[in-house]
Amino acid sequence: MQNMAHHLAQTLKSLRQDRQWSLSQAAEFTGVSKAMLGQIERGESSPTVATLWKIATGFNVPFSTFLEAEQSRQPLLLHRQGALPVYDQANADMRVTPLFPFDPQLGFDIFRIELAAGAYSESSAHEAGVVEHVIVLEGELELYAEGVWHSLKTGEAVRFQADQPHSYRNSSRSAVVLHDLIHYPLRQPAC
Ligand code: MN
Repeated sequence: MQNMAHHLAQTLKSLRQDRQWSLSQAAEFTGVSKAMLGQIERGESSPTVATLWKIATGFNVPFSTFLEAEQSRQPLLLHRQGALPVYDQANADMRVTPLFPFDPQLGFDIFRIELAAGAYSESSAHEAGVVEHVIVLEGELELYAEGVWHSLKTGEAVRFQADQPHSYRNSSRSAVVLHDLIHYPLRQPAC
């Protein structure tokens, strides 16, 4: 967790330098306060999942950018149980585990998300063209997407446009576990 906070701080700092944004500009683009961004950069605060999504969206980068160090390309990536970094802030009712980090060649990342009983998570719109694929592994999920609430049972799945606000809710008394594959539109190389 300490490493993760460090990685998060470094990533945010270097992204902001690349963009040549001041803290105020970064606050404006992400909707996260200047004070909070400063705390994260100094490693003094570990943001909630919702805050991290806002930052990723504002910087137009995949969520997993903040969670994992860059991996060298390898033909096969195998994850054993318990060997994955988990992102869960204190008292979190949402745990996010990146299963496969973002790879620019492939254009997607995959997360395992656990929502505790009663959990409610709102996600702001991702960049234009982002599509999410949600597959429910355990429990019953309520998902708000494209303007409608959907109820999804174990084994059911939905694909939706994620460039508009969407929400995940667990109204049941037991945990909900899902896989979320987030596909990002291919970027044109800068000329
Ligand atoms: Mn989302």
